[in-house]
Amino acid sequence: MMSAAHGSSEASGPAITKLGVDAADAKNVSEGDWKKVLSPEDYHVTREAGTEPPFANKYDRHFAAGDYNCHCCGVPLFDSTTKFHSGCGWPAFSASKDADANVVRIKDNSHGMERVEVRCKNCNAHLGHVFEDGPKPTGERYCINSCSILFEPQQK
Ligand SMILES: [Zn+2]
Repeated sequence: MMSAAHGSSEASGPAITKLGVDAADAKNVSEGDWKKVLSPEDYHVTREAGTEPPFANKYDRHFAAGDYNCHCCGVPLFDSTTKFHSGCGWPAFSASKDADANVVRIKDNSHGMERVEVRCKNCNAHLGHVFEDGPKPTGERYCINSCSILFEPQQK
């Protein structure tokens, strides 16, 4: 468990993730503390901008109705209405929730490629990359690591 600095444990909405990191506190979590609450693979992907294996990941072929929240801090990032099967081996979305409300785009020139990395605006978790070969109307394809998101089924 994380030791919350302010000592409050009252849950209000989706702020508390199953990791116990409060969205409001996520900016103050040190890399060492992330290491304690995330699995080695989740840590590598979200905090070290790693990439999980294609196809053999949780949400590539997952199409239930609901939201996809940040695995690290719980803010809403995507939802099932924009998810599509891209065939690339990772979950793909044609748009983020509320037009990048919680997503920040960063130019990424690593690995000899010119790409646009997407990160969680709240806690700086690496999510994946956005490409310009997606379906209409956005024409964009958010290629996201399953490790970086946590599915929350739609309330009936
Ligand atoms: Zn986050």
